[in-house]
Amino acid sequence: GHIAELVTRLVRDVPDWPTPGVVFKDISPLLADAAAFAAVVTDVARRAREAGATLVAGIEARGFVLAAPAAVAAGAGFLPVRKAGKLPGRTLRRDYALEYGTASVELQPEVVRPGQRVLLVDDVLATGGTAQAACELLTEAGAQLVGLHVLLELSFLGGRGRLGVVPVTTSAVA
Ligand code: IMP
Repeated sequence: GHIAELVTRLVRDVPDWPTPGVVFKDISPLLADAAAFAAVVTDVARRAREAGATLVAGIEARGFVLAAPAAVAAGAGFLPVRKAGKLPGRTLRRDYALEYGTASVELQPEVVRPGQRVLLVDDVLATGGTAQAACELLTEAGAQLVGLHVLLELSFLGGRGRLGVVPVTTSAVA
């Protein structure tokens, strides 16, 4: 569709970044295009409304850029899922394996109401480790996770397979 075409055309391939052999998908040109950014945010907001989400969660940092305006447009709240050590107060934390080393994400459980319907949003689904950790945190916080939406799924990495029963939707697949 229209959104998939925008993502395919405006997301840039950056070879050998952040390490040799990796082709990084850079959404900055899409964000810089006023009409494309608005169309993508409107599409995420529609998905949030249709899923009955009252909270849209974004994964730091590019997930924030998509989730926050979509939350406003959908009449929902916004919840940040952050890298470890950034959020004040009580937090829940998940550590997960990267190809080399580990990473951690956190959220503030007090900000989620029990059973609240949450749509999780990020820019790119790669190996799925980050999204899986974020989904586990939301569930542990008592949220009813209605889905994960990503702008671009790198399907050859198989990340979707790590997300269990969570409905995964994408604007485009590479
Ligand atoms: P995963 O945990 O391997 O699925 O990686 C997904 C996380 O890393 C997301 O938060 C993405 O923002 C980021 N990421 C991984 N690969 C890319 C990429 O090619 N472009 C943009 N972000 C990426």
